Amino acid sequence: MHGSRTTKFAIGGFRVGFDWSVLIVLGLVAWSLASQVLPGGFPGQSTQAYWIAALAAAGLFLASLVMHELSHAVAAKRVAGVEVEDITFWLFGGVARIRGELPTPRQQLLVAGIGPLTSLTTSPFITLWMANRKKSAGPMRSSTVGRGRSARGCNR
Ligand SMILES: [Zn+2]
Repeated sequence: MHGSRTTKFAIGGFRVGFDWSVLIVLGLVAWSLASQVLPGGFPGQSTQAYWIAALAAAGLFLASLVMHELSHAVAAKRVAGVEVEDITFWLFGGVARIRGELPTPRQQLLVAGIGPLTSLTTSPFITLWMANRKKSAGPMRSSTVGRGRSARGCNR
């Protein structure tokens, strides 16, 4: 899953890697926004304007993914004192790998729950979308970037 074609950075004291497949996701997000969503919602603009807005939105999308995973990592380190191996972003989202297991169910709940909570509070787009919906939404990205996968990552 995490091949050698991962570009690594240090963000907030954590090793953060970006697999080349992240570009596929960002490309699809930008392309669908520029070709469908934005022209449909805001007609009469230039193609260039749609693409600038779409690329900016794709960048914000990536930033929200990074914030989400960083919140898991910070919670694991601060709340449970568990070392964070690294955080990797790839085709299906992000994975924060921790060394060992979180000791208590309460800590597991905190570390798992902080990610979605961060996404809700840092993303005005998601918050507005949720506010416009009367029903409560299901788990948003927890199926692809949950703590369960993080703890049992591919480091063994
Ligand atoms: Zn998560």
